[in-house]
Parts: sequence; C-alpha cells; structure tokens
Amino acid sequence: MLKDLFRKQKKYATIPSEQAKKDIPEGIMQKCPQCGDIGFVKELEKNLKVCKKCGYHFSMSAPERIRMIVDEGRFFEFDSGLTSGDPLSFPNYAKKLEADREKTKLNEAVVTGEGTVGGFPAVIGVMDSRFRMGSMGSVVGEKIARAAHRAATKKYPFILFSASGGARMQEGVLSLMQMAKTSAALEKMHRERVLFVSVLTNPTTGGVSASFSSLGDINIAEPQALIGFAGRRVIEQTVRQKLPEDFQTAEFLLKHGQLDQVVHRSELRETLIKILDLHSGRVNDGNR
Ligand SMILES: [Zn+2]
Repeated sequence: MLKDLFRKQKKYATIPSEQAKKDIPEGIMQKCPQCGDIGFVKELEKNLKVCKKCGYHFSMSAPERIRMIVDEGRFFEFDSGLTSGDPLSFPNYAKKLEADREKTKLNEAVVTGEGTVGGFPAVIGVMDSRFRMGSMGSVVGEKIARAAHRAATKKYPFILFSASGGARMQEGVLSLMQMAKTSAALEKMHRERVLFVSVLTNPTTGGVSASFSSLGDINIAEPQALIGFAGRRVIEQTVRQKLPEDFQTAEFLLKHGQLDQVVHRSELRETLIKILDLHSGRVNDGNR
C-alpha cells in the first residue's frame, strides 16, 4: 500500500512541465532552439522564420518555401497525386504515411512543379521535413526524376530545395535505388545543358546529401544547416578522432569547397534571381 502512495506521487511530478507548456501557448509563441528567445509565431513568419535575435533559421514547410521563392500565383504543381505504396509491408508504414498526409496536407515529402522566380521560368522542387522527416522513398525519387526530365525537355533551370533525413528505411533497397535514379535523371538534364541549382537546408543528410543535393551546378546552403552523410558519433567512433565543432555545418562545407555559397534566407530569392538572370542568355541592357 505504501508503494502505491509513492507511485501516485510520481505522477504529480509531471505537473511543472504541463505548466511550462501553458506558458508558451502552442501556435502563438515559439521558442528559438538556439538562443532560447521566445517570440510571436506571426513575427517569426514575417521574418521568413529566422530568429531576429540570433539568426537561427527555423525549418520551412514546402508551401511556405514556395510562397517565399516563387512569384505569387505562378506555381503549377506536378504529380501531386503520386502516393507511396507499402512494398515491404513494413509494420505501421501505411498508418504513418496516412498520419503524415493528414498532418501536412501533402501526399509526399517533396512538392515539385514549375513556376517563375523573378519572372524567370524554372522547374522547382521543395522537400518537406514534416513528412517522414523528408526521407526519400520511391515517390520522392520518382517526383524529383520526373521534374528533372521536364526541366530537360523544357530547357528550364531546375531549383531543388533539400531537407531530409536520408533514404526511407521503410522502403528498404527501393529507397536506396532512388539515389541512382535521381542522379541519372540529373545527368541526362546536364547533357541537355540545363542548369541545376541545389539549395541545401537544415538538415540535408544521408542518401539525399549523397545523391541529388550534392550534384548542383551551383550548390547553395542556408546558414548553419546540418549537411552530412553519417552522423557525427558514427564517424567519430569509426575514425577514432574528435571532429571539429563546426563539422557538417554549411560554413564548414563552404570552407572545404563542397558548397559555392552560404546564403542568408533574406537574400535567397534575390540570389536565385541573379543566378537565373545570369544563365538566361538574355543580354542585359542595363535598363532593368
Ligand atoms: Zn534565436
């Protein structure tokens, strides 16, 4: 009986965290994971989801990213109806897909389409890390490969925003195969001399960093984005060395030649427009 009393007491110990939750009303206020600053969600959204205090770049959903980059009302989605099967009958996979579809209102972890950016036509792909951590299954790979084919046919530049935990384990080898498929589609696009701009956002890891996201003619990343293949601990245990503090950050990769530029979110759209302009073949008469 005495034991029961103690057990009951243990339950009460959860009260402070419940209280803490009440202090930061969900959906109205948001806490910066880097500096701890608490601000209004609306203010944060106005600032392109970048912390005003420390510059931390919060993750963006695919629809938010499209609104930020593409000219208003100029996005036409491709293959929005493609949905993943459950080829390995992986336990709970179908349920998880359904829950993510419900949560994100998206059918998969990437949205592809065409539109204009600063008036320049482009094929655009945006991964959404809310959907199965942005992992690459057969549908993600297929949509990216199809987008690359369309870019090659139309001779439109292809801009792809990555945000991914890597390959999707629930689809096993079929998911790993997407690395080769997307890379081959990009190679075909490359032979057509079509520009590919890869924008790596936090986080871009695993099979995605090891395939299409590193294959840009121009590779750009957002500040402090985590970019890498295997996790830090796995590498440290394998090489038996302590890795530098900034290892696998965008800035580290820029320093070591794996990126062309690290661009603050507030300058990203303008930077992309400049790149599209430079590659449009249009003669700039200086009157723009
Ligand atoms: Zn902050």
